[in-house]
Amino acid sequence: PKILTVVGTRPEAIKLFPLIHALRADGRLAARVCATGQHAGMLADVLALAGITPDHDLGLMCAGQSLDRLTARLIEAIGEVLDRERPDVVIVQGDTTSAFAGALAAHYRQIPVAHVEAGLRSGNMHHPWPEEFNRKAIAAVADWHFAPTDAARDALLAENVRRQSVHVTGNTVIDALLWMRARLARQPSLAERMSAIEQACHGRRIIAVTCHRRENLDGGVERIAAALAELASRNDVAIVLPLHPNPSVRSSFLDALSCRDQVHLVEPLGYPDFVRLLDCAHLALTDSGGVQEEAPALGTPVLVMRETTERLEGIAAGTARLVGTDSDRIVAETARLLDDPVAHATMAQAHNPYGDGRASGRIVDVLAAALIA
Ligand code: UDP
Repeated sequence: PKILTVVGTRPEAIKLFPLIHALRADGRLAARVCATGQHAGMLADVLALAGITPDHDLGLMCAGQSLDRLTARLIEAIGEVLDRERPDVVIVQGDTTSAFAGALAAHYRQIPVAHVEAGLRSGNMHHPWPEEFNRKAIAAVADWHFAPTDAARDALLAENVRRQSVHVTGNTVIDALLWMRARLARQPSLAERMSAIEQACHGRRIIAVTCHRRENLDGGVERIAAALAELASRNDVAIVLPLHPNPSVRSSFLDALSCRDQVHLVEPLGYPDFVRLLDCAHLALTDSGGVQEEAPALGTPVLVMRETTERLEGIAAGTARLVGTDSDRIVAETARLLDDPVAHATMAQAHNPYGDGRASGRIVDVLAAALIA
């Protein structure tokens, strides 16, 4: 049997490379890979790091493209790949436009769909936009739902998804993180950019920041930048912010923060450097989904700069706090973690609810059992 995995963005590549490794190591199912290029350079970097050469590379991202145009081109181009490859199953991950388009193109051809990281719900159709729609639409056509946690499984069952089609596996991001950390231990030179950045931080405690979501483009980024400017006036912290390529995110941060000492606005970090950053940071401030899952596995507290999150397990476990995008609240919550060692230790030591690093093997076993009679 043949499996085709669709990969579009950096987070999908990070969360799918362990599964592609596991499929190849297992050998029972032929593993083919289609990269859409939704995040051109960052996607290729992660796949190259993991030693994966896509069998199809669609290169579909171009500047200024509307979501309509991107979606239409993705459905058509992935559909052509499916007609040529005729896979037995299509794997998609998460909630991106590539994942939605891959699932829809497979559904139109009646090819079964497996959804990795199924069942995340913020409960609000418009937040996050457009991701919540993509997740629900993929769930509507998927034949296997690989839920990272019990809560994700329950969300699917509450939507009347067939119980036998839902499997709780843990999140493959933990597989990726542990693979990367082991590789870094053998090859520390993979994180040379971070070594240079750490030196420039002069031993101050590091706050790792990422911000890129569409839902924060409407004023959120400016309020976050104002909070960072205020935090940067403390003489005991250094802020490291890898800038997402989105032009409006970049310009807001560059305008507000370029001339601040101890704010390091850097280009997106390769995965090894980013794992090193999260590992050595005192805390993370983020609107990213993946970072909410990775940081607790490294014992780094996370403040989530969004109004809602579909990753409630971390909030419940105490590894993360939802702080919104109000500047004063971000400053106050960050100061608490800097100045109150007990508050920091409580978050750092809380249990990571997102998995044990063996999610990919569980997914391969379920698919192989179903496909090999
Ligand atoms: N990441 C990275 N380099 C960076 C910033 C993030 O490799 O400079 C990784 C991070 O480890 C995480 C993923 O990218 O696994 C998160 O991606 P992003 O924030 O773009 O998307 P989301 O998780 O919100 O879907």
